[in-house]
Amino acid sequence: MNETCTHLDQIEVSDLPHEITGCEDCLAIGARWVHLRMCMTCGKIGCCDSSPNKHATQHANTSGHPIVRSAERGEDWSWCYVDEVMFTVAQPT
Ligand SMILES: [Zn+2]
Ligand SMILES: [Zn+2]
Ligand SMILES: [Zn+2]
Repeated sequence: MNETCTHLDQIEVSDLPHEITGCEDCLAIGARWVHLRMCMTCGKIGCCDSSPNKHATQHANTSGHPIVRSAERGEDWSWCYVDEVMFTVAQPT
């Protein structure tokens, strides 16, 4: 387990979309979610590990995109599945 994430060059999307309707995969199957995460490589919205379907983790596993951030308003932490480290990406001011 590394102390820092070595995948920052794979971040393509750091800002949340203006409107988040929910976990795309849950909406497609009519499932519910608890919290939302956003893939920082492709911007996909998925649900957290407290949700029954864990779509954010599923997406990371199947796509190889390593980093998600919280898609909850007021939360700006990110998580790298590969390094298993939590960090905050500095936002341009
Ligand atoms: Zn990493
Ligand atoms: Zn979901
Ligand atoms: Zn992705």
